[in-house]
Amino acid sequence: MDVLEKLAILTDAAKYDVACTSSGVDRSGQPGKTGSTVASGICHSFAADGRCISLLKVLMTNQCVYDCKYCVNRTSRDTQRTAFAPRELADLTINFYRRNYIEGLFLSSGVLKSPDYTMERMIEAIEILRTEYSFNGYIHVKSIPGADNSLIQRMGLLVDRMSVNIELPSEDSLGQLAPQKTPEAILRPMGLIRAGIEENKSDLVVYRHAPKFVPAGQSTQLIIGATPDSDHRILTLSEGLYKKYNLKRVFFSAYTPIVDDPMLPSLFSAPPLLREHRLYQADWLLRFYGFTANEIVDAKNPNMNLAIDPKCNWALRHLDQFPIEVSRASYERLLRVPGIGVLSARKIVQARRTCSLTFEGLRKLGVVLKRARFFVTCQGKVDEGVIIRPDTVLRGLLSKNDLRMLPAASGDQMTFLDVPDMARSLGGMPVNAYGYLPEKGTRENAKQYEFGIHI
Ligand code: SF4
Repeated sequence: MDVLEKLAILTDAAKYDVACTSSGVDRSGQPGKTGSTVASGICHSFAADGRCISLLKVLMTNQCVYDCKYCVNRTSRDTQRTAFAPRELADLTINFYRRNYIEGLFLSSGVLKSPDYTMERMIEAIEILRTEYSFNGYIHVKSIPGADNSLIQRMGLLVDRMSVNIELPSEDSLGQLAPQKTPEAILRPMGLIRAGIEENKSDLVVYRHAPKFVPAGQSTQLIIGATPDSDHRILTLSEGLYKKYNLKRVFFSAYTPIVDDPMLPSLFSAPPLLREHRLYQADWLLRFYGFTANEIVDAKNPNMNLAIDPKCNWALRHLDQFPIEVSRASYERLLRVPGIGVLSARKIVQARRTCSLTFEGLRKLGVVLKRARFFVTCQGKVDEGVIIRPDTVLRGLLSKNDLRMLPAASGDQMTFLDVPDMARSLGGMPVNAYGYLPEKGTRENAKQYEFGIHI
């Protein structure tokens, strides 16, 4: 098999990994024009300064001795298998780079023979790139669960970012769907990478030119919707990972049903993309807005209300804390107002030092008031036409389109108790235990909606 055939197979097999974000643009080449956005395996990621960089996203091999039930590369699946030799991959990457197709490499792999053997091949490819070709571009590598500590150390000194995919959010799910992986095999390398990064920081203070260890930090990926794990489970796990392993990012990947197995969602289910989106919003609240996982969801209400974003959902459940007065509220309190982000909160804090803020003034500052106007006062006054009452706020937060789809509420009053019904009418609800819209006649349809929508 020639290298281009291998490339087609191994980039296709890598597409389910989301820890490297893709632009989603799908435009093929046209006569008379140069370039296309569908070249095999080229995806886009973002540098720390917001710059978009294109990466070759590929597997070292799609052969795997493990049999994770949710994976297209599992050993029991009948599919065409191939593997790059380390030099083939290094040559391919450097040639793509020289042609200006890519700026870096995102490398993952199935487990060929053993985790150590696979890591050694990946290290060999990257060593050729870094030493023989002096490649100085961005490299993100997925560590193989179960690989030896010394290999993780070696890899860490070669790459910019490393990630260890957790994939399944609980030990039970891991035991059922990926029995060959253990929590220890996943969490040990994470601990090692964190320790290595911290040690390296102290080394760099003393020796400025010491080699850098995983300078862009580590990340992980969780599959959403392959198991009945709740949002509460997923968010408390993410929160713990940020604290304990100092992760840069937890990526969420809506499970695409590609495997027919009684333990997995039916092949007819759509990927729970809205749930994935809400989890990313909640993750943002954890990382930048000072929320805890238990404030967003809790054991009593373990899943997010998919009809509205998690910050609005939190605010609606804590209307007793609103409205807040923009001229006096602390920066942290401002961040809790739906529609007010980090930038707007900073602008408000700065502007109110020199002037009295009005709603008009906030608009001029560039603060988007579409949602915020239901939760704040300026000089003790609410915005024109706003009545702060649960039903009016709720109506204000939903778009006209959403409202047209609502079931008729009793009289004009809409209460929080209507929200689950409303949510069922919105955006493809209801969800089932996997976060999917069940289809008629499928296995999920028969299941109870154990994880209903809550407010
Ligand atoms: S170890 Fe990775 S590649 Fe192999 S079956 Fe499991 S998820 Fe797939």
